[in-house]
Amino acid sequence: MLSVEEALERVLAVVRVLEPEDTAILDAVGRVLAEDVVSPLKIPPLDNSAMDGYAVRTADLDGAGPASPIVLRVFGSVAAGELPSTPVEPGTAVRIMTGAPVPPGADAVVPFEDTDEIERRADRGPVVEIGILDRPEPWTHIRPAGQDLAKGEPVLSRGTVLRPAEIGLLASVGLAKIKVVRRPVVAILATGDELIEPGEETNDSRIYNSNSYSIGAAVRRYGGIPIMLGIAADNLDSLNDKLQQGLQSDILVTSAGVSKGDYDVVKDVLAKRGRIDFWSVRMRPAKPLAFGVLRAPDGRQVPHLGLPGNPVSALVAFEQFGRVALYKMQGKVDFRRPTIKAVLDEPIYNTDGRRVYARAVVTRRNGTYHARLTGDQSSNLLSSMARANGLAICPEDLPLKRAGEAVDVQMLDWSEEMF
Ligand code: AMP
Ligand code: MG
Repeated sequence: MLSVEEALERVLAVVRVLEPEDTAILDAVGRVLAEDVVSPLKIPPLDNSAMDGYAVRTADLDGAGPASPIVLRVFGSVAAGELPSTPVEPGTAVRIMTGAPVPPGADAVVPFEDTDEIERRADRGPVVEIGILDRPEPWTHIRPAGQDLAKGEPVLSRGTVLRPAEIGLLASVGLAKIKVVRRPVVAILATGDELIEPGEETNDSRIYNSNSYSIGAAVRRYGGIPIMLGIAADNLDSLNDKLQQGLQSDILVTSAGVSKGDYDVVKDVLAKRGRIDFWSVRMRPAKPLAFGVLRAPDGRQVPHLGLPGNPVSALVAFEQFGRVALYKMQGKVDFRRPTIKAVLDEPIYNTDGRRVYARAVVTRRNGTYHARLTGDQSSNLLSSMARANGLAICPEDLPLKRAGEAVDVQMLDWSEEMF
C-alpha cells in the first residue's frame, strides 16, 4: 500500500505548472507572480512633505523658539498633486500640504503647530507673514524622493504569492496588469446510477450528488475554476460521453467507482483513454484512490484524480491530493497546510495501520489547543466533516493515540474559538 507521501509524490510528478497570463492586479490576489517586477520609477517621485505646514530654509531659522519667533514672508502655497511654482528664497516660506512636493530652496517643513498661524488666521486676513516657533534640523518632515523604491529597484520577485500589500505595491508603481500563473480549469464528474442533482425531485432510492459540490467548492477555495460535468451513470456510453467533455480541462476529478467491486466500468474506460493506476493509500478515510493521465483529442495529457465515493473520503482525499495538485499548477511551492499541536481529549483508534485523519474540533483553553472528535468517524457522515475545523492525525504505525497525548492537527479553518 502506498503511503500518503508516496502517493503525493506521484501526483506531483505528473501535474505541471500552468502558463502565465496577463491579469488586472485586483484579480491577482492569492495568485503567483510569474515575472520579476522592478520599479519603473522613483517612489515617491519627488521630495514631499510629511505634514501640513510651511516649507522653509533652516538657515533662516537660527534662534527660532516659542519665545523668539522668526517671521518669514509667505509666497504661495502648494497642495498634494501640484508642482511648486515658486522656489523658497531666503527669508520666505511656502505653505505646504501633506504629500505636496517640497519647493526648491526649502530644506525642512515646519508643521502648523510650530507656527503662529492660528493667531494670524484669527485676524482673518490672508497669511502674508508667518512666525516660526522652532528651529528644525534639515530634512525634518520631508519624505525624500525614492524613499520607498528607487527606479529599477526590484519590487517583487517571480514566485511571490500576492497578498493585498503586494497588490497595493504593484499599484503604487503604476502597474495595472501583471503576469500571474493561470488558474487551473478543473472538470468535476460524479459517477453512480443512484445519484441525482440537488434541486431535482427525489424518491427514497436515490441520493443527492454532494461530492461534486464539496469538491467544486474546494476547487474554488484553492484557486481553480470548476467545470461541473454532472453525473455519469455506471455504463460505458455515459462515462465515455462525460469524459470527452472532461478532457478539455487542465485536470479531471471524478468521484466514486474506484473501490473494489464496482469500478470495473470506470477502470475499463479510463484504461482505454490513458494510463490510470488504482491505488490503495495507507490512510483513513479514503484508502481507494485512482490517479493517472488521460489523452485528450488534441494530444494533451490531462491528469485525472479519481476520488472515492463516500462524501467524507472524497473531500479528505481532495484536501490531501487535489489541493496540492491545484497549488502546484498555480505555481505555488509551499503545499503545507497550517498544522498545530493540540492535546487530544479522546482517543483515536487505528485498527489497520493506516494514517488516520480524524475529524476534529480544535478549541483553545488556557492558552492550549485541545482537539476532540466530531463523533462517529464513518466516511459517509458528511455532517461530521461539517462540524470539524481540523483533521487530527494518528500516524500509521501507532495503533492508538491516547487521550491526553499531543496530536498534530491539520487545520481546515481558523474559527473564533481558536484565539
Ligand atoms: P462507490 O465508490 O461507487 O462504491 O460509492 C461509495 C459510496 O459513496 C456509496 O454509498 C455512494 O452512494 C456514495 N456516493 C458516490 N458518489 C457520491 C456523490 N457524488 N455524492 C454523494 N455520495 C456519493
Ligand atoms: Mg457507485
